[in-house]
Amino acid sequence: MADGSPKRDARYDILFEEVQIGPITAPNRFFSVPHATGHNPLMPNGSIGMREMKAEGGWGVVSMQLAEIDPTSDISNLPIEKFWDDTDVKSHALLVERIKKHGALTAIELAHTGIRARNMDTGTPVLGPSSMRILKPQNPIQSKAMDKQDIKAFRDSHKRAVHRAKQAGYDMVYVYAAHDASLVWHFLNPMYNQRTDEYGGSFENRLRLFREVLEDTVEAAAGDVAVAVRIPAHDFKSGSPLTYDNEARAVIESLAEVPDLWDVNVAGWPRDSGTSRFDDEGHQEKYTSYVKQVTTKPVVGVGRYTSADAMVGLIKKGVFDLIGASRPSIADPFLPNKIKEGRIDDIRECIGCNVCVSSDAYSVPLMCTQNPTISQEWRRGWHPENIPAAPKKENTLIIGSGPAGLECALTLAKAGHDVTVAEKASEFGGRVIKESALKGLSAWGRVKDYRLYQLQQMGNVSLYAESEIGAADVADFEADNIVVATGSKWRNDGAGATTFSAIEGFAEHALTPDDIMNGGEISGPIVIYDDDHYYMGNILAGHLAAKGHEVHLVCPLPSIAEWMGYTLESPRVLDEMVELGVHMHPNTTVHGWNDGALEVSRSDSGRVLPPIKGAHLVAVGARLPDDALLSELRAQSAFEGKVTGIGDCLAPGIIQAAVFSGHAEARRLIGDVPKSGIYKRETPVLFDR
Ligand code: ADP
Ligand code: SF4
Repeated sequence: MADGSPKRDARYDILFEEVQIGPITAPNRFFSVPHATGHNPLMPNGSIGMREMKAEGGWGVVSMQLAEIDPTSDISNLPIEKFWDDTDVKSHALLVERIKKHGALTAIELAHTGIRARNMDTGTPVLGPSSMRILKPQNPIQSKAMDKQDIKAFRDSHKRAVHRAKQAGYDMVYVYAAHDASLVWHFLNPMYNQRTDEYGGSFENRLRLFREVLEDTVEAAAGDVAVAVRIPAHDFKSGSPLTYDNEARAVIESLAEVPDLWDVNVAGWPRDSGTSRFDDEGHQEKYTSYVKQVTTKPVVGVGRYTSADAMVGLIKKGVFDLIGASRPSIADPFLPNKIKEGRIDDIRECIGCNVCVSSDAYSVPLMCTQNPTISQEWRRGWHPENIPAAPKKENTLIIGSGPAGLECALTLAKAGHDVTVAEKASEFGGRVIKESALKGLSAWGRVKDYRLYQLQQMGNVSLYAESEIGAADVADFEADNIVVATGSKWRNDGAGATTFSAIEGFAEHALTPDDIMNGGEISGPIVIYDDDHYYMGNILAGHLAAKGHEVHLVCPLPSIAEWMGYTLESPRVLDEMVELGVHMHPNTTVHGWNDGALEVSRSDSGRVLPPIKGAHLVAVGARLPDDALLSELRAQSAFEGKVTGIGDCLAPGIIQAAVFSGHAEARRLIGDVPKSGIYKRETPVLFDR
């Protein structure tokens, strides 16, 4: 283009075509599907800020997260939207207004969560097709089999919710049947539906409630708003007949022309939100591509799509009409606009780590490894693309180029600082270089790739590899600010999440993940002691087992990789360990390493267990911050007030935390911090008695 800005390749034009969805027209094919955001209904400002950013970034449809239609569907303690009565309409109306300002359409996912609800807050019985334990086995709660009155009440309630959605100004209402978390889905599945009346037994009977609610919704929508259905086109649950080659297909065929839009995925949530370790981009296609063959209505589907070419392929092949996304829209709210403007290389691609998903279980606003500004749009005023100009052009030296250093460098460079990054290794990227070389983690390299590419394009950035910086070197840079991002190293002494100090025999003998990732050759049986409980222990176990080693994975908690429950990966990890023949020893406390054997006992009872023998011991526990340089620089009066530390060299943590730390420090250096020092918080309304 004459003005020098990049031009979109014509092959992507198809992504910017309008799509008719019943009575409404989507401005393009980019569809931000409903997803949990960690914002509960008492945090409407944060929730609005996040979604408005997606509309600004070019998503043609922006959806609200799952919204309970009434108090009989109460997933107590999870940050789910409540759309119970007219008092809830106001904040939704504001959300709609803010999204529409950017030309996007809005959708709300109306839901009754059936036997996924707990109703611990509301105190009413959980409702389901049959009297049975709810889908949370740890909870001693049983559902009430819905009688005809309950069914009528549910249908009436759903209709009222549709009217409220219209009142709020939404363009589209969903009937939610997905994730094994919907009442109508529970009626569909004979594992849960053991009724003998006209709502149970035969396929037609089990379909009845779904059909009725969908028809009610179409009637209440009255052509004013579009009606969408979110449903799995395939259920991975063992024994479920709702598969792509059986009843899931039959359901969609039976109701094919009733809604205005089919939003299809796979069930349950762990398979829908598969991580890059187990599922590639487009992993759902095998199970969802048939849908367009059985309906003339538009279809939207997901698959962690970040590649514009893959998206074009989906449209051209007739797989989908609209490209659905949750995680790619979290990692980069401006993904559509970047494609539109021919800035493909600027896309901050989701790495498929599911740290965002963990926010739901913790009930905290979304966190993202790639996008540190997510959830901070309203509370801190952070924009993912527009960094405020620094009040003064300063020179900043960043020592270390891991996720923290690179993010800090990029944010400061965008703000106008002259930035120098010095890295002692031959490559930039820190821990991400080594970790992305491990089995299943290659997509994690995107954390480095995105930032490094951007930095390499900027005239105000100098990047020096193979440049180890000591305290004596720093003065030469004449920097206004010195940011130390030197990372951390794994400890080998056995200290970890449950044992806070050294374990006998470890410091003398144990290897660390760093040793293994650095390619140290080892032979014979290997014992991995995992007191970290995230990915490193089991990734190394898989990596070494795949090379033919006998591997024992020992862990003090009741199950291996407990934290991976938060990323929905636990079942797949355990399956992989079994597949690779890794010997798993959960619930096992370690007392020492003596004569090539781990002395162990059961964690729960203390009962002594037979020692676990190996030729090598690998300790995966805590890490040591690499903070010697930081301390030395801080001690020098010449640098007083100029030195800060970020990322793992301050507090070793997950990559998301390092990226966030780097970003936050850059904002601090340009003065983009709240005056009070505390970000804006949602404040409760206090009522008079
Ligand atoms: P974080 O996750 O906090 O970004 P990483 O461990 O990923 O930390 O990255 C730290 C980086 O800092 C590594 O690439 C390491 O080589 C580099 N580094 C450590 N000490 C120095 C130093 N003195 N000079 C330059 N680079 C250093
Ligand atoms: Fe993607 Fe990870 Fe960000 Fe989630 S946290 S959106 S999976 S990069």
